[in-house]
Amino acid sequence: MTSFSSFSMREELTRAISDMGFETPTPIQSKVIPQLLSQPIDIIGLAQTGTGKTAAFGLPLLHHTDLNAKHVQTLVLSPTRELCMQIVEELGRYGQHMRGLRITAVYGGVPITGQIRDVRANPQVIVATPGRLIDLLERKALNMDLVETVILDEADEMLNMGFREDIDFILKTTPARKHTWLFSATMSNDVRNIAKRFMNKWEEFSVGGANVTNENIDHQYYVTSHHNRFETLRRLLDFTPGIYGIIFTRTKQDCQDISEKLMRQGYHVSPLHGDMDQKMRSKVLERFKNKSLQAIVATDVAARGLDVNDITHVINYELPDDPEVYTHRSGRTARAGKSGICMSIVSPKELQNIRQIERIVKQRFHKSDIPDGAEVVRKRLFFYMEQIALAEPGSDFAKVYQESMHERFADLDKDELIRKLIWLQLKDTIDAYQGANDLNAGYENKENKERNRGGVRSGSVRMFINIGQKDGVADEEQLLQFITESTDIEAGMIDRATVRELSSFFNVPASSAEFIATALSSKKYKGRKVRIEEAEARDRDRAGGPPRRGGGGDGGYAKRGSRDDRPSYGKGGSQKFNKRY
Ligand code: AMP
Repeated sequence: MTSFSSFSMREELTRAISDMGFETPTPIQSKVIPQLLSQPIDIIGLAQTGTGKTAAFGLPLLHHTDLNAKHVQTLVLSPTRELCMQIVEELGRYGQHMRGLRITAVYGGVPITGQIRDVRANPQVIVATPGRLIDLLERKALNMDLVETVILDEADEMLNMGFREDIDFILKTTPARKHTWLFSATMSNDVRNIAKRFMNKWEEFSVGGANVTNENIDHQYYVTSHHNRFETLRRLLDFTPGIYGIIFTRTKQDCQDISEKLMRQGYHVSPLHGDMDQKMRSKVLERFKNKSLQAIVATDVAARGLDVNDITHVINYELPDDPEVYTHRSGRTARAGKSGICMSIVSPKELQNIRQIERIVKQRFHKSDIPDGAEVVRKRLFFYMEQIALAEPGSDFAKVYQESMHERFADLDKDELIRKLIWLQLKDTIDAYQGANDLNAGYENKENKERNRGGVRSGSVRMFINIGQKDGVADEEQLLQFITESTDIEAGMIDRATVRELSSFFNVPASSAEFIATALSSKKYKGRKVRIEEAEARDRDRAGGPPRRGGGGDGGYAKRGSRDDRPSYGKGGSQKFNKRY
């Protein structure tokens, strides 16, 4: 059996390992560490969380670190903020005796200014989530020209979370890269593609258990407050431009409401539920099958007969009560040998249901962060660029219009033309995500504080609504009931409600004003069409135009997901890996 002392590692590392009480290397460590210490080639390590893979790459990376250098030598990319922090902590423990070692974590969800300072302090190692790293690169706060080793941790997860383009971008931004070490639980086609494009001839190391967990479905969940469920759905849809999916709701009413709201906002979706007659349902199915629809919003019963093979995503707008139903839903994707993603939007209260379903389906679920505005915009930018690159205008088209096009744009240089074309495609998204909220549960307040500092909207907003006592709203309680039932927001978010004869007023958090206005403006109260707007905007414009667009934000810095299902095991427990299941 190998031991840590048999590795020829720098003395500070061997000492730290012994301080930490590690006795025997784990299987992935025994395979990878000697290779990377003696000859740091490109490698792929197929190993899951909990196998000791952080030390497998961490010890060799620290061993090769030049402590006198004043530039970033190693970049570790990780899918989530939580994992990022854990890696930094772990590396810090291994490197505790290495004087002059500087490791910096870079992740979203916190103000970027502190991180700009950190990266300017010349760390040798940066551990980053893709979104925030790109943010820093774009601000020129960081230079990666001299990075020699890039480590992709949980590469399959980063790809499943939609970061393919970001990874491409980052790998292209490290021109001096000599080695790429890729760790992944599964060897999917996407992982192989990254390897083919960016790695030299590589060695593969795998340990038992890799590839066996999840065959083809990646189960992800996104935690948000109940009232942000719809916004979260929109954001996930926007972040997944090529989606061909099914959105599951628990009730027919939700199914109808959600698809109507999405349709109004320009999404190609349609409802599918039991109240629709057979003819309508067949029509929807036909449109879905020929891909005129990007998604259908369905109830469980209505989706029963659905037979479509290439569904890319199943989205649970709400979790079903019965874990069996979850299995049916998620089984709509990843059919016929393909892979698929099942995303669930859950409120903090529903986390226990996730744990229960995990136990029953015997699969690991990944907690992912709801992307922020900047990530959505970047994602769509890459999507359009790809579409333009792949477009094949027919020769007739060129024959007929070439001359006119050339004439019109003769004075425009190529870059400017590209900018204009893409801007046209993206401007709605950019507008819509200007100052988008952080929708991740638990971060709303933090974001508000940040927004305050940035001088963007926060606090509460007074809303005007055109229903009052004359319409049958007897008191504040009835008003509250109507609002909460129509919008799904919690009553606690509304305060200072006043019901007058012809109209009413109430306060809501600024971050939710737009959502509430959109949700209510499609409603009727006892037959009367509801009109709602910000009271301030109404005072400014007595003619009563549409509600001003609300929703402040900080431009949204990346805050990728956190993983809360990592096993923990104590010092010296080298072979005893507590898996959750
Ligand atoms: P990882 O799979 O890298 O997330 O590692 C999970 C945990 O295992 C971390 O807390 C490590 O400190 C611990 N660990 C890693 N290697 C060993 C080892 N050889 N012996 C005991 N614990 C280890």
